[in-house]
Amino acid sequence: MDGNIWVTPNTHVKLLNKHVVLDLIRFTPGGVSRVDLSRQLGLTRAAVTSIINDLVDEGLVREAETRYSGGRRPIVLEVAPDKGYVLGVDLGATHLYVCLSDYSANIIQEREMEIDINEGPIVCLSLVDSLVQQVLEATGFEFSDIAAVGIGLPGPVIIEKGTVSMPPIMPGWNNFPIRETLQQKWECPVLVNNDAELGALGEWAYGAGRGEKNLAYIKVGTGIGAGLIFESKIYHGTTGSAGEIGHITINENGPKCSCGNSGCLEAFAGGKAIASRAQEELRKGRRSQLVGLGDLYQISAKDVIKAAKRGDLLSQQIITETGSYLGIAIAGLVNLFNPSIVIIGGGISSSGDLLLDPIREAVANRSLYAAGNVVRISAALLGKRSTVMGAVTQALSYALHKSGKWNQNYIY
Ligand SMILES: [Zn+2]
Repeated sequence: MDGNIWVTPNTHVKLLNKHVVLDLIRFTPGGVSRVDLSRQLGLTRAAVTSIINDLVDEGLVREAETRYSGGRRPIVLEVAPDKGYVLGVDLGATHLYVCLSDYSANIIQEREMEIDINEGPIVCLSLVDSLVQQVLEATGFEFSDIAAVGIGLPGPVIIEKGTVSMPPIMPGWNNFPIRETLQQKWECPVLVNNDAELGALGEWAYGAGRGEKNLAYIKVGTGIGAGLIFESKIYHGTTGSAGEIGHITINENGPKCSCGNSGCLEAFAGGKAIASRAQEELRKGRRSQLVGLGDLYQISAKDVIKAAKRGDLLSQQIITETGSYLGIAIAGLVNLFNPSIVIIGGGISSSGDLLLDPIREAVANRSLYAAGNVVRISAALLGKRSTVMGAVTQALSYALHKSGKWNQNYIY
């Protein structure tokens, strides 16, 4: 701990302002100028200039022109892209995504592959390592060039321990030292978090939720989880388990869920539920393009989405029903949390308005006017990159706020 930074209250205030300024530079849509900063923070121009000079001296911030066409171009500030680099990793139930980003969150290199989370931590983390190594090799970087790595995991994460706690869809992962293992291997700071929370952060920082204070991001894939941004910060809950919307009971007599209960949202609207409803209908003899795919038992949620987009009626009906189930739970979330936007992401969200319209309808019908009237239901702008960009954002927050001598005590 660097005791010096607490010497006088003024230094302390200036340090806090420095962190706030840095984040306004990072996250203000369209960029922020010195004048904007002094107005927003209620600081004098001189105070802002002093903070900016420090940031510029450290090489973290530089001046850039906005991309407005016509008129006088105000000088805005940006994080210096080539000051450093971070990695983001999205480890999903069936999919692994790795990307390398500069300090301005520009993706420099990315790789993805199919995986199976059921293979357990030893196998999956070695796949993470090999995909990360491929990304580094492709760009000529080494781990000594990487300031931090952010990782998203599909279960409740205990952030302080770097583990997951009793995750329903991650057998064998309970209490495995995920962060420790990777930190030792890479000799680099690693930050682990829940994938839906990182999806929320990614969309808040660079996607459909820019400039919003309270948002919910719903990741609809094999599992269903929500990430909540509350007053512009991730809301984790007491034990990192906030937002597990997939395990809200929709119908107590419903199908068995991976968590052991019955009738959870995930058992109605998760990837497996979509696939098994399609299989069941086909066994009953329903006509569908899906019949042409051959083995009934191999039909996946992806197949159903593809067929729905091609106009297959059965598949469209299943996606619409899925949207209605999601809408029931989301209406409850809207009543409880009163967000300005609910962003739908994850693999199933690629079905677009076919899924979103019934969600909008259910939310309009079931939530209270004061909350339901203002909330927008929107598709994730970053698509399959929401979570990985959240992982990048978190790695950048760590790298930018922990770097240098001035911020040892700042807890982001
Ligand atoms: Zn459940």
